[in-house]
Amino acid sequence: MHSVVERAAEPKGPVPADAPDPALSSELDQARRRLEGAPAIDVLHWTFERFGRDVVLTSSFQDCVLVDLAVQVDPGVRVVFLDTGYHFPETLAYMRHVEQRYGLDLEVVVPDIPLDDRPCGTPGCCDARKVAPLDAVLAGTRAWLTGVKRVDTPERSAAAVLAWDGKKRVVKVNPIVSWAEDDVEAYVVERDLPRHPLNAVGYVSIGCAPTTRPVAAGEDPRAGRWPGSGKTECGLHL
Ligand code: SF4
Repeated sequence: MHSVVERAAEPKGPVPADAPDPALSSELDQARRRLEGAPAIDVLHWTFERFGRDVVLTSSFQDCVLVDLAVQVDPGVRVVFLDTGYHFPETLAYMRHVEQRYGLDLEVVVPDIPLDDRPCGTPGCCDARKVAPLDAVLAGTRAWLTGVKRVDTPERSAAAVLAWDGKKRVVKVNPIVSWAEDDVEAYVVERDLPRHPLNAVGYVSIGCAPTTRPVAAGEDPRAGRWPGSGKTECGLHL
């Protein structure tokens, strides 16, 4: 009688350098199956139970829906705003209003280049003012909470509720990924949330001032971002 030692299957090819370790990958697959379609609060509970204080929430402060959800689970969540230097003064005022309302642990990250170096619309501006500062923030953390929604853009239509971001080497969590614009509006009303001051004059999706315009009633909210340029993303999410 002899024993048979089963050999592990040979890997099918080289493991990409940006892949998560296999245990994390398997855990994320299971969590994703469980949390897909779950209430945003459940996704946030999983995130904070799994990663503790090792979580960063980024907000553009076009609204405060994700902030309002997250502080219900962890009032001390670390919130980061990427200040490109080109935001509307109304966005900065709204950010401070929300900070005070919730007593946020808010970090305003300013890029390390002057305004006239690679100004808005020139190559490298989004990279220098958004992507690189975010990479630096995320380098010291394990989970990244975002307000990405599938309805935002065609490019985001397949976004998952949570996924490994190989480039940034963090677990990216999108608690409201399945929400429609109507869900956002209903939540704002239900929770009586403060609105961005520019909502009142037609601005819906709000980023840097030079590349954001108001939209007409019924127009796609993202039509107001980078109008006429063909650009839909700044590089943070895709
Ligand atoms: S939209 Fe992009 S290119 Fe324009 S200021 Fe903001 S970061 Fe720079």
